[in-house]
Amino acid sequence: MLAPFTAGWQSMDVHPLVIEKSEGCYVYDIDGKKYLDSLAGLWCTALGGSEPRLVAAAARQLNTLPFYHSFWNRTTKPALDLAKELLELFTASKMSKVFFTNSGSEANDSQVKLVWYYNNALGRPNKKKFIAREKSYHGSTLISASLSGLPALHQKFDLPSPFVLHTDCPHFWRYHLPGETEEEFSTRLANNLENLIIKEGPETIAAFIAEPVMGAGGVIPPPATYFEKIQAVVKKYDILFIADEVICAFGRLGTMFGSDKYGIKPDLVTLAKALSSAYVPIGAVLMSPEIYDVIHTQSNKLGIFSHGFTYSGHPVACAVALEALKIYKERNILEQVNSIAPKFQEGVKAFADSPIIGEIRGTGLILGIDFTDNKSPSDTFPPEWGVAAYFGAQCQKNGMLVRVSGDSIMMSPPFIITPQEVDEVLSLASTFQLREERSRN
Ligand code: PLP
Repeated sequence: MLAPFTAGWQSMDVHPLVIEKSEGCYVYDIDGKKYLDSLAGLWCTALGGSEPRLVAAAARQLNTLPFYHSFWNRTTKPALDLAKELLELFTASKMSKVFFTNSGSEANDSQVKLVWYYNNALGRPNKKKFIAREKSYHGSTLISASLSGLPALHQKFDLPSPFVLHTDCPHFWRYHLPGETEEEFSTRLANNLENLIIKEGPETIAAFIAEPVMGAGGVIPPPATYFEKIQAVVKKYDILFIADEVICAFGRLGTMFGSDKYGIKPDLVTLAKALSSAYVPIGAVLMSPEIYDVIHTQSNKLGIFSHGFTYSGHPVACAVALEALKIYKERNILEQVNSIAPKFQEGVKAFADSPIIGEIRGTGLILGIDFTDNKSPSDTFPPEWGVAAYFGAQCQKNGMLVRVSGDSIMMSPPFIITPQEVDEVLSLASTFQLREERSRN
């Protein structure tokens, strides 16, 4: 198997970690070893790995109607019901239609097509460029990898596509100037964005896309006043705002959506992952009434809206997603996340005085740790030391799975994590402090 996002030295199927079973916040490998899954799979199994109601919802749907499509004004009840439910749930700005996909990447690809279609319909054929941010992750198809601001996704793939521009990553600790406050940093980044728009020509910029909290780029919550200032710039130049909520939605930040937490009023929204608690693949695009109206009129003129996938609105995926949303409501998932998050955040942040940790940041049930020397973002350890990789491997050895990227470690446990399980995370993560080893040297 050619495994996705696998390091070169791992690419010959040498000792892959083969996971066989899951149970709550834990997964088990084929040798029966148990791991606390502190990343919830890939930031996605929000309800853990053994929610019987999701399994029953899938089984019910498989027994009734395992598949029907949503082309040519045919569809299924679960797809219609899920669309309705999502439109009711998202209240940060008014949304009027949902387009279903199979993944976050497909949803972001669809965003670009929808925005191009929209601007063509409005007679603005030059307004086609997208601005994303350095270090963002929006997926790995041609277009979503182009939007992503991670060089590894571009190199040797002839990406990014020329219509994508990247602006600053809002990581305050790493990029602020000496003496700069968070507010001043946000002002500088908003000014840089405005200068980029002016340089390119505002009539050429179609949309700006951002994750409310950057996930795969290192878990980077926005600095104070960031989205307020960025949105003001975007609005000034008639540029659409796309909130990529693939990681943040449904409670991960302690609010139903990241947009709620940061006062984002998007024109378009991307969803996936916790939408079905990852039990089946599904993604979605939400669009504002203004955008939908233009798309609708244009499609009428052309005779058809020619975009969609065989599995857009797959009934099994929609049935599982509907059940997941029902569970989030019934179990008051926001209260659950908000009651456990302080223990998780404060517990891990207590390790921040370790001499090899530069910063620990996060909110709700998502957190990132940067390893550096002297507490300084510029005193990075030599890459060949593989500091974060070492700790990641230690965690795995001791029974916990984390995400390692460069010299960062990231965690985003299932929403259902218990206080005892957080204690276990903290005990296993205490290895990051390296106190004993240091004092011995
Ligand atoms: N957008 C964000 C913010 C993501 O974190 C991801 C995946 O991690 C994606 C998009 C891509 O989603 P998928 O892997 O389902 O294509």
